[in-house]
Amino acid sequence: MSDIPSKEFSSKLSAFKKITAVKGMNDVLPGESAKWEWLEGVVRNLMARYAYRNIRTPIVEPTALFVRGLGEVTDIVEKEMYSFEDRLNGEALTLRPESTAGVVRAVVEHNMLYEGGKRLYYMGPMFRHERPQRGRYRQFHQIGAEVLGFQGPEIDAEVILLAHDLWLAIGLKNVRLELNSLGQPPERLSHRAALITHFEKHQAVLDEDAKRRLYTNPLRILDTKNPAMKEVVESAPQLMNFLGEASLAHFNALRQILDANGVRYSLNPRLVRGMDYYNLTVFEFITDQLGSQGTVCGGGRYDYLIEQVGGKPAPAVGWALGLERVLALLEEQGVQLPDATPDAYAIVPDASNLPLVLNYLRQLRALGVNVQMHAGSGEGVGSMKSQFKKADTSGAAFALIFGADELVQNTVSVKPLREVGGAQRTESLANLDTWAHSLQSIS
Ligand code: ATP
Ligand code: MG
Repeated sequence: MSDIPSKEFSSKLSAFKKITAVKGMNDVLPGESAKWEWLEGVVRNLMARYAYRNIRTPIVEPTALFVRGLGEVTDIVEKEMYSFEDRLNGEALTLRPESTAGVVRAVVEHNMLYEGGKRLYYMGPMFRHERPQRGRYRQFHQIGAEVLGFQGPEIDAEVILLAHDLWLAIGLKNVRLELNSLGQPPERLSHRAALITHFEKHQAVLDEDAKRRLYTNPLRILDTKNPAMKEVVESAPQLMNFLGEASLAHFNALRQILDANGVRYSLNPRLVRGMDYYNLTVFEFITDQLGSQGTVCGGGRYDYLIEQVGGKPAPAVGWALGLERVLALLEEQGVQLPDATPDAYAIVPDASNLPLVLNYLRQLRALGVNVQMHAGSGEGVGSMKSQFKKADTSGAAFALIFGADELVQNTVSVKPLREVGGAQRTESLANLDTWAHSLQSIS
């Protein structure tokens, strides 16, 4: 039987409605994905410099991991998770809305802290059922750093410096660092009582979410995005005033290290973050250039999560950044990013020379040049004119013309395609290694 659908079948096919991507989940097409790969590459190098190692955990986790880890009364768990039942065995599963819980689960499951602390990083897709808008998607991508097993403020400082150095490495400007301390559970408890008293006095201005959370998770109310509650949130008692000596010492030590390293920050006593697992240090890197989706990176300490996921208690700290937001901000700031166009495009007027030419192209590639081979879209290789047109649309900086005359003399013509008035030159095919580098773009 033939694989080609019958006429009758293909006419039925064309009657089908086009299938499009799920709302809020985007394809990343080649021009754009080149920028993603560049950013991921910079991150990998920087992580290696800081001696952080890559970890890859599953995209699907047991629902209980997030309910227990992030907290039942959080936006993510209450409204944003893609949870489903496995049809085959009834397991309750969830597409990961973030990766800290999964990393902690893996660290516990593999007893990774057995021989001491770990510095880890990850990259990958996360899923949250939110209202899609610029900078807010249902499948989005995070890069995250997690350090487990170290207690001192120098590690809080290290992860913040790591993010700060990433902004430097990619040329990102105008992100400000906001810092707060959430203290320890007993301190949170006294603050919680004060918060409840405060919000009870202002019941009238509380929205539905806030009313529901008043007695279950009043701290969460501080994380509201509702402008109508701005005032009641701003006048709420501040956790900072409930911190004991040890918590304050940790916070001040962190601040000293940041000061000594010239990292500027501001204190934001209302910064609480979206998950319940944080304690002591919390921070966000924020920009004013992306409208209301201005948080590009957020994190903090989570010393109790490992125990909550069933591990032996151990301290931890980390952050996650939104890849889409970082790239959008770079674009907003006019930073030129690579777009993966080839260095050179090979024009071969006579198809019979292709076998020989392909050999030269492979030699050029081995020397580090990105070369696109011309291929005809119909019969044969097409006219010189159409080949030049393709060379132009490829974005390559140079056309390499492997004409019959050139090949007889063991040469190739190199024609600059982008320089105004750039002159064509002839190069020898006998010593490609002496001039191949001149084709390479600087990026
Ligand atoms: P927001 O306040 O914008 O909802 P968040 O506090 O929920 O952010 P985190 O859970 O801290 O975000 O995630 C870390 C980073 O991931 C954010 O700072 C942001 O850059 C990115 N991020 C979070 N949710 C989304 C989303 N739905 N689409 C795109 N990026 C996101
Ligand atoms: Mg959110």
